[in-house]
Amino acid sequence: MTPVERREALEVIAMEVRGCTRCRLHSGRTNAVPGEGHPDTEVVFVGEGPGLNEDRQGRPFVGRAGDLLVRFLATIGWKRDEVFITNVVKCRPPDNRDPEPDEIAACWPYLERQLATLDPALIVTLGRHSMGRFIPGARIGQAHGTLHPADPATGAPAAMVYAMYHPAAALRSSDVERQSYEDAAGIPAALLEARRRRGNPPALDEARPAAVSAAPVVPESITIVTAPDAPTFF
Ligand code: URA
Ligand code: SF4
Repeated sequence: MTPVERREALEVIAMEVRGCTRCRLHSGRTNAVPGEGHPDTEVVFVGEGPGLNEDRQGRPFVGRAGDLLVRFLATIGWKRDEVFITNVVKCRPPDNRDPEPDEIAACWPYLERQLATLDPALIVTLGRHSMGRFIPGARIGQAHGTLHPADPATGAPAAMVYAMYHPAAALRSSDVERQSYEDAAGIPAALLEARRRRGNPPALDEARPAAVSAAPVVPESITIVTAPDAPTFF
């Protein structure tokens, strides 16, 4: 897919999401939140579902959790518009309750198509609902900060998945916040490993010329082996 085709394919998905009535969450929404970001990125962040601010604006991670996510990204020199950010459900669950399994299942084809279009090297899951779809059976307390091959059924068979706590959990607990900064520090190493496994560094992938300028830069200062809590690769 060329960058133009990719951008168009993402817009088609977003338009379908905005008109979707496949599950009960459509009835309570102000705006559906399809997701946003750079169409040529190598990294997709997947949260849980829109909250109040996201529902109002139709954009993902624009409230306090979003601000914290942006701070995590800043610590590794990345900006939110260099990656793609979306959620497992695209409409806000009432009172920010957890999404129900049937809602996640109803919404899943949109995420699957977004991932098939973006073909990311790395998927970063935010929270256990997102993680559960990509690393079945994992427990967040153990899996955060670790890298796993994506379940091939996810639409991104060539991707690796790096699990993080949900930023909203980090807002509630300083321990989780501290741990999340450590996990964020492991993202560039996770991307390097994901690229290596994938075998096609995006700079060499002709279908992704924009990646050279648009892909998140892996800071030279990262250390894969000596970080105190280096991600475990398996
Ligand atoms: N929490 C999420 O999981 N997603 C958002 O978009 C915002 C907050
Ligand atoms: Fe459709 Fe997903 Fe919104 Fe449900 S949450 S109405 S499946 S877009």
